[in-house]
Amino acid sequence: MKRISILGATGSVGQNTIDLIKRAPGAYKVVALTGGRRIDTLARDAIALGADVAVTAHEDLLVSLREALKGSGVEAAAGQTALIEAARRPAQWVMSAIVGAAGLAPGLAALEQGATLALANKESLVTAGTLMMRTARANRATILPVDSEHSAIFQALVGEDSAAVNRVIITASGGAFRDWPMDRLANATVAEASSHPNWDMGQRITIDSASMFNKALEMIEAREFFGFSPNQIEVLVHPQSLVHALVGFCDGGLMAHVGPPDMRHAIGYALNWPQRQALPVEVLDLATIGTLEFRAPDPARYPALRLAREVMEARGLSGAIFNAAKERALDHFIAGRIKFTDMNIVVEEVLNALIDAPEARNSELTLDVVAHMDHLARQQADLVVTERTTQG
Ligand code: NDP
Repeated sequence: MKRISILGATGSVGQNTIDLIKRAPGAYKVVALTGGRRIDTLARDAIALGADVAVTAHEDLLVSLREALKGSGVEAAAGQTALIEAARRPAQWVMSAIVGAAGLAPGLAALEQGATLALANKESLVTAGTLMMRTARANRATILPVDSEHSAIFQALVGEDSAAVNRVIITASGGAFRDWPMDRLANATVAEASSHPNWDMGQRITIDSASMFNKALEMIEAREFFGFSPNQIEVLVHPQSLVHALVGFCDGGLMAHVGPPDMRHAIGYALNWPQRQALPVEVLDLATIGTLEFRAPDPARYPALRLAREVMEARGLSGAIFNAAKERALDHFIAGRIKFTDMNIVVEEVLNALIDAPEARNSELTLDVVAHMDHLARQQADLVVTERTTQG
């Protein structure tokens, strides 16, 4: 039996992973499941899967978790240290599906115990790609991409010489506001931004898809994961979300990965790798679909893509600044303090303020150094928002 853990088990990716695990009774021994506030879901799945331990990130929810697990034999734990300890428990395969930079430390802990890390949490690569890769190498651990675009690139590269790759194209649906007139964007509501045309995902990544910050993170993720240079990474808007990425080779050939917009494909690929197994996903009928469209992203509509290029050029800790500023700007948008279009402005102002700071050039990349930069960027984002709201 393969020993597995799922970090972020109560979220959208976590639940899709659990769906696959439940369909293969006897194939997996579940070591740890972690979640945040959704205690009922966490306890239900920990009991159903016979997990050794269930962990909530929030210490104030330990009593509720204990109560929900009473008599089941599943251990209950809470808090940041417990999350990291859970990730450190010996497992062969660990799903990293916590949302945000909060996924970094548990992901590193899983790599330190030599697990294969199925990485949905793109923020950890954006924030500390060099540290993640170094930790994986030092512990002979493997990182497999779960983001559908990066899984697509990974699959297109099987058997290929990476030196023959001259470009990669990551596709983007264009998000909720793809066809909105530009002058309506400033007044877009949180509810409107939280509805994705094709994918069913957590709220934060759905809003990030509307602003294209999700694609911006994915560009940086592609650089960190595969080592492509910034000018090799392109983005195309593809409204159908069926072609997830294309890899271009020096002979002019392009390998496209086509699949249904269902995360269970990329999760299942990482779960079964290096084999392939049948998955419960829709079989695409391309004759019925008929048309696949592609268009260049409008830079005025999606400034996040330009910011991602600046981050990729700057390197150092710019990814940590970018991600933290984006996370705080998103918090402020969700809380109704800033407009949808203000998120770009906040992130750009934070980057301008911090990208040349001595801390951002720190070459001793450790978790503490990254956490400090993340903290500074969040503080700066709050400051920018306070200034904007008092002025406005
Ligand atoms: P969700 O918001 O649906 O789930 C996030 C998970 O993280 C939940 O289990 C949540 O717990 C937990 N969590 C939230 N905050 C914390 C914290 N501070 N500490 C520990 N755990 C926490 O997110 P998604 O599943 O949509 O996304 C997860 C990751 O996967 C993200 O990095 C996203 O970018 C990436 N991804 C997602 C895709 C998707 O289809 N959803 C596609 C590709 C990548 P709780 O809900 O119990 O509070």
